[in-house]
Amino acid sequence: AAKGGGRAQYRFYSGEMKEGAKRRRQIEEELRSVLDTDQLAMHYQPIVDAQTQMVANFESLIRWHHPERGKISPAEFIPVAEDIDMIKPLGEWALARACRDATQWPDDIGVAVNISALQFECDDFPSVVRTVLSETGLSPSRLVLEITESVFLGGSNRTQRKFEELKKIGVKLALDDFGTGYSSLSYLRTAPFDKIKIDQSFVRGCTEPGNNNPAIMSAIVNLADALKMATVAEGVETKDELKLVVDRGATHIQGYIYSPAITQDNILERAEKGPLIFEARGPARY
Ligand code: C2E
Ligand code: MG
Ligand code: MG
Ligand code: MG
Repeated sequence: AAKGGGRAQYRFYSGEMKEGAKRRRQIEEELRSVLDTDQLAMHYQPIVDAQTQMVANFESLIRWHHPERGKISPAEFIPVAEDIDMIKPLGEWALARACRDATQWPDDIGVAVNISALQFECDDFPSVVRTVLSETGLSPSRLVLEITESVFLGGSNRTQRKFEELKKIGVKLALDDFGTGYSSLSYLRTAPFDKIKIDQSFVRGCTEPGNNNPAIMSAIVNLADALKMATVAEGVETKDELKLVVDRGATHIQGYIYSPAITQDNILERAEKGPLIFEARGPARY
């Protein structure tokens, strides 16, 4: 498009690219020292049991509030942190913060923490988990590690041994964004997942007619059931989507229909008033 579009358009396009590269360089620089600032926060989004409507877990979602640039999405800065070797310290900060915060919640509620494949691949990852659990006092059974299919790209015995070590510690494992990676089913044979998270791209638009998403969702739920794994439908926004994913058998629901990620203070305030219940509120459809 840049080539055929004439000079003006070409210049515009390349200017945009320059802006993008400049922002990226600034984010890189600022990420290196972000742990020395108070710009990072952890927010928590409820994952609700589809049958009881009770909160089963909160997923920890990292937030970066930049003093000039405003909110920077983890979808933007986590990949940068991976590129510049900052993911290990950042990931350890996130794990420790989430586990510490979870110790203040009602003790039947767990915390689900996103783990970058690069962090998972570090040899000392299981010992980092063990240390964080013992330093915070969180019971291992209350910690869920969310990993994506990309951890299998290495495809080695080392990955399998690491799963076994983590299971020995007693933490739970969830396969995040299921269906969006390279989606080989072979690793489900041996990897000890407790939960499969059905990616939100299968939920979005699932109520529109003539759409394959409901059939795919049923297939994933049946597969998970047969393997004795729970299923979380991610990104449920509307009442129609909620009805559909519950009908299709998803055991847990996460999405704006219940709540976006909220602060620790908000959780503690709610917990003081009684059991943690989030009402399904959302438009019937968009
Ligand atoms: P994820 O693990 O798949 O997290 C779910 C994302 O979907 C979150 O985006 C959440 O806010 C968003 N979401 C939840 N419900 C809805 C909904 O109903 N509609 C829509 N449109 N979106 C919904 P967020 O917080 O921007 O995080 C994006 C990704 O960044 C996460 O995807 C995860 O891959 C990564 N991430 C976030 N926090 C961490 C962290 O502490 N460590 C690592 N390694 N990655 C993180
Ligand atoms: Mg996740
Ligand atoms: Mg996800
Ligand atoms: Mg995701």
